[in-house]
Amino acid sequence: MSLDAFAAPGSFYKGNLHTHSTRSDGKLDPADVCRRYAEHGYDFLCLSDHFLGAYNFPITDTRPYRTDSFTTVLGAELHAMTTDFGDLWHILAVGLPEDFADTGVNETAQQLADRAVAAGAFVAIAHPEWYGLSLPDALTMSSAHAVEVYNHTSHVHSGRGGGAYCLDMLLNGGRRINALACDDTHWNVPGDENRDAFGGWVMVKAETNEPDALVDALRAGHYYSSQGPAIEAMHRDGNELVVEASACQQIILAGPHSLSVYAAGEGMQSARLPLERFAGKWGRLMVIDKAGLIAWSNPMWF
Ligand SMILES: [Zn+2]
Ligand SMILES: [Zn+2]
Repeated sequence: MSLDAFAAPGSFYKGNLHTHSTRSDGKLDPADVCRRYAEHGYDFLCLSDHFLGAYNFPITDTRPYRTDSFTTVLGAELHAMTTDFGDLWHILAVGLPEDFADTGVNETAQQLADRAVAAGAFVAIAHPEWYGLSLPDALTMSSAHAVEVYNHTSHVHSGRGGGAYCLDMLLNGGRRINALACDDTHWNVPGDENRDAFGGWVMVKAETNEPDALVDALRAGHYYSSQGPAIEAMHRDGNELVVEASACQQIILAGPHSLSVYAAGEGMQSARLPLERFAGKWGRLMVIDKAGLIAWSNPMWF
């Protein structure tokens, strides 16, 4: 999956898949949100307002804010009752049709996620650490394409921005599911509207920076996620994984349970990691820079 991204034709496009505006509980209007991401060098954005009756079930229309160098994907953060601790589910859906609507019947979270996938969306389990999503709950979300391994606003607001543990538990159980980093921007940090923006993103390999091509690539796993570092190339050479990255301090391949191999060095930009112990197993790459910022590949199966 992740290796395919580097072999696939096209270019890497930078995007944030999880964002809120005044159409739900975000503090900036959609035009301002799109403008800020475009000005920060993003190629695309999914404005994913909360799909709740309180906000009249928005699929926020960002199409007016597309330009020659910036596009948008329609989507939403879906909610349904209930997790096993009795709270609302949070499910990210990127690439929904503009007429995706509430059915008026109480769908389960699984039914809602399945309907989003059937409608063409890339679907992710949102911020599992933030609300302590249980493994049994995560296991029920069988149609999800990814788990958020980093949610920037959850990190900023509660120090619980992670999700890699949830991802790894699903992988250990045999699920083939990808990783995702995002902002989940609400623009609501006192004194600094941008404080929960521009902290987690995806780099999607696609032939064009167009919504359908981006969503197809996301669904195929042709992307990696980052807080800062770049994974520039990755391929398998016999029993080694060959990696090129932006300047970093560690390049790690982590697999089931405690399995990992790594290379370390000040300012290193490449590594050859041995794959013998990964035979028949999954592994996912992490590049960590001097500031502790991480880039995550999607899982690979060797
Ligand atoms: Zn949420
Ligand atoms: Zn959100």
